[in-house]
Amino acid sequence: MTNIAFIGLGNMGNPMAANLVRAGLHVTGFDLVAENLKTASANGLAIADSALAAVEDADVVITMLPAGQHVLSVYGEVLEKARAQTLFIDCSTIDVDSARFAHGLAAEKGMLSIDAPVSGGVGGAEAGTLTFMAGGSDEAFKLAEPILDPMAGRIVHCGDGGAGQAAKICNNMILGISMIAAGEAFVLAEKLGLSHQALFDVASTSSGQCWSINTYCPVPGPVPTSPANNDYRPGFAAALMLKDLKLAQDAAQSSGAVTPLGASAAQLYALFNAAGEGGTDFSGIINFLRGQEKK
Ligand code: NAD
Repeated sequence: MTNIAFIGLGNMGNPMAANLVRAGLHVTGFDLVAENLKTASANGLAIADSALAAVEDADVVITMLPAGQHVLSVYGEVLEKARAQTLFIDCSTIDVDSARFAHGLAAEKGMLSIDAPVSGGVGGAEAGTLTFMAGGSDEAFKLAEPILDPMAGRIVHCGDGGAGQAAKICNNMILGISMIAAGEAFVLAEKLGLSHQALFDVASTSSGQCWSINTYCPVPGPVPTSPANNDYRPGFAAALMLKDLKLAQDAAQSSGAVTPLGASAAQLYALFNAAGEGGTDFSGIINFLRGQEKK
């Protein structure tokens, strides 16, 4: 049987690992937070008392951690002790440079690795319907695919090491910008006396259509399942959107890409977060835009 070590059992990691257990895989987990280990144990994971102990007998090591520094620190800790040819799968959302560095560390020790960040949030993690964006060699991807499958709705091989992270931040930069665009359009419509439903009926079926309007409409009413109908509870928290927009800006800077709208979106979400709204769904930015209007 494949032995999996799962390191980072937070909001995403715990339900993802639970789906691996449900699929009949043997999963040993580690997290720094005791409460998360309790949940993991209740979900059927074996619990290790360190990251190092978790990887000892592992064929596959999955990490789901907050940021690049955590991934590099865990890789630094465990790579020495992992069995040769262990497959390392990092599902965290981290900066492209750290992702490439992590691939390099793994390769130096004779390990296979992929970066495989996800979209779909906690709901997708629980339902096993996450979209995985993978970067790494064909050989590593082929081995990773059946491991990711119980957690996935869709798995896309985006290219070499770091390509998964690149796809994730490019996609989320579009999302951040388009949500602000949708919010601005609804606020302008209000000023012009146009109803939310009328703008939705036109924009969702013509050239303004996008996920931020059609699926995740930032005003209550037109799309009953969008967080706007639930007091803007996440969904996808504004703090995580800001994180991804900052990662996109870091990548734009280090690669020399020009992303003026991405930069503006990052600034607006930084202001929204600074106003204490980091825990609000990111579509709540429309209320922040309304609050900025000229008196
Ligand atoms: P989280 O903070 O709930 O979980 C991260 C976990 O990592 C925590 O439990 C923490 O204790 C643990 N951790 C940190 N350092 C560790 C170490 N050295 N050893 C072991 N455990 C350690 O975060 P999350 O919401 O689960 O997100 C995880 C990753 O997934 C992030 O990179 C995030 O950007 C990304 N992501 C989150 C969502 C979402 O909706 N929450 C969606 C897509 C992607």
